[in-house]
Amino acid sequence: MTRTATKRVPIETQKRLRTLMREYFLDLDAAAKDPGRRVAWCTSVGPCEILTAFGFDVFFPENHGALLGAQKVSHELIPRAVGAGYCPESCSYMNSDIGSCLAGRSPLQDIYGIDGPPTPDLLAYNTNQCREVQDWFAFFGRRHEATVLGVRPPLHLGAVGPDHVAFVAGRLRDLIARIEERFGLVFDAAKLEETVARSSRASSLWREVLETARSRPAPITFWDGLIHMAPVILMRGSQVAIDYYEDLLAEMRARVDDGVAAVPGEQFRVYWEGMPVWPKIRELSERFFDLRTAVAASTYCNSWAFEPYSGGDPLDWMARSSLEIFINRDERFKQSFLEEMFDRFSIDGAIFHNARTCPNNTNSRFGMAQRLRDEREMPVLVIDGDLADVRFFSTAQTMTNIEAFVEQLEGRRR
Ligand code: SF4
Repeated sequence: MTRTATKRVPIETQKRLRTLMREYFLDLDAAAKDPGRRVAWCTSVGPCEILTAFGFDVFFPENHGALLGAQKVSHELIPRAVGAGYCPESCSYMNSDIGSCLAGRSPLQDIYGIDGPPTPDLLAYNTNQCREVQDWFAFFGRRHEATVLGVRPPLHLGAVGPDHVAFVAGRLRDLIARIEERFGLVFDAAKLEETVARSSRASSLWREVLETARSRPAPITFWDGLIHMAPVILMRGSQVAIDYYEDLLAEMRARVDDGVAAVPGEQFRVYWEGMPVWPKIRELSERFFDLRTAVAASTYCNSWAFEPYSGGDPLDWMARSSLEIFINRDERFKQSFLEEMFDRFSIDGAIFHNARTCPNNTNSRFGMAQRLRDEREMPVLVIDGDLADVRFFSTAQTMTNIEAFVEQLEGRRR
């Protein structure tokens, strides 16, 4: 197989991202130290727009879990959580975040010179992704004597109907009432609508950015997406996120027009299903680059591409967005979503990541990979690993499997 490494063309907009991230974390740190401001922790597709509308500064612990994984320190911190009674095979974001707290160690200290994650006044979760977040937030609620509030929507839906939306919108109304009561705040409906409109705009732009990868060659890959998705999670509801994605989208469209490839000499296009392997992102992206294989689309990066808000009750939009996310759907919906994505992005083969500590966002455990292989006659590879805990990942084994997989794609083409 020919593997001639060509130079990667950097994405210019990324330079601004470093500044945005620094400003975001420094501001959160300042908020935590200012008695006149309040910090809320929130799950990634949780009720963050409500928190923002109330004036909370919002921190996302899953992002911290991913950072601990990407900085390759999770395996050192997880034993601290295990010592406190958390199962070593429970969510490694949760375990490394708890371990980080118990050890008093966070990469935020070195990267931004701050104490670590901001102390929360409120923790608000949504179990649309998993129940783990409830117990994760409960730990920090006890630790900081902070209020923990949650929304528990119906799970694993096929079609999302008006009754489901009405139920969750009702839970969100209840959440608002409890925040008003607990913190003595008055809810501002106009502010929520503005926040939701900005959130939706950022999300739509993010979707458009990802859609540029339908072009051949793809101007952006899953690996780039893992970096550039930060504003749509952390800064959702802000103008900053909108401005960022407008620039990124313009850059990606220019790359499409000029034929600039994320993977020069792109030969194959692959789909990534499941969680990223954060500690191995660099090695994996380089391997695919050398194999001239663009990971052109993924479920993960699409998780923050919501349907647009087009007026009406913003709580209905929030409820629908939180119900419709892929992780909260049934097996049949998931398979048809994947097949549509394979067609949209002209995918040659799919990789399923069996993440040991996240069964919730792993879809290779109930025959889906095999069904896709059989029904579409498409090469599908399942790799074993984890999102943060390297003890469940064999680099040598995985790289060998990926190389054999790309050879299989080559063989089919011949
Ligand atoms: S979805 Fe998976 S990775 Fe995310 S918090 Fe839940 S268990 Fe952890």
